[in-house]
Amino acid sequence: MELDTAHRRMIESLKRLGVKQEVLRAMDKVPRHYFVPENRKHEAYVDHPLPIGDGQTISAPHMVAIMCDLLDIEPGNRILEVGAGSGYHAAVMAELVGEEGKIYTIERFEGLAATARENLRRAGYTNVEIFVGDGSLGLPEAAPFDRINVTCAAPDIPPPLLDQLKVGGKMVIPIGRYVQDLHLIEKRADGISRKIKGGVVFVPLIGEYGFKE
Ligand code: SAM
Repeated sequence: MELDTAHRRMIESLKRLGVKQEVLRAMDKVPRHYFVPENRKHEAYVDHPLPIGDGQTISAPHMVAIMCDLLDIEPGNRILEVGAGSGYHAAVMAELVGEEGKIYTIERFEGLAATARENLRRAGYTNVEIFVGDGSLGLPEAAPFDRINVTCAAPDIPPPLLDQLKVGGKMVIPIGRYVQDLHLIEKRADGISRKIKGGVVFVPLIGEYGFKE
């Protein structure tokens, strides 16, 4: 099947799941085949995760859509992502924030960060910056953030991430080691609200406020 036909079918299937219009529009614009290894290009628009090297994965399209939906991303938002992986999810968020917004994304593997940078450059995204390091510590120099997207599973919410989220801001984070749930956190002036949004499967967050290697 041609890649653009497969892309269209992926968007149709996400639409049937009830994904919001803006997220569908963003995912329609991002060429996912730029973000998967050359030998898996034919599977770029199939709704499953794919290996990207270093034992890591690019998340399934429906998971990217669900997380973007829950974050309620607005044009102009400054977003922190923990786990850049291939750079695909960052590209979708870059479409949602537009030219006024910015995505800061952290990856612990230098090789993956370099590939993600190249993928984003080829796809034409200039409002995404990739950092190499332990994302469980956040990125204090660029904080505070309107949204935080954590794409690896943590033991609990890393305190630095909560500190670096604006009041009124939202974070999605998978929590658990082998049995995981996706949590939606909203930071309010008087504390946080936490909603569990269902079971997920993510690679672990490895770091100071994550799991040990
Ligand atoms: N968002 C990615 C994409 O669009 O391809 C998928 C991310 S993958 C499911 C999770 C990523 O989190 C992996 O690339 C992994 O190396 C990274 N990771 C795990 N612990 C991390 C940490 N402490 N800091 C930064 N990245 C981390």
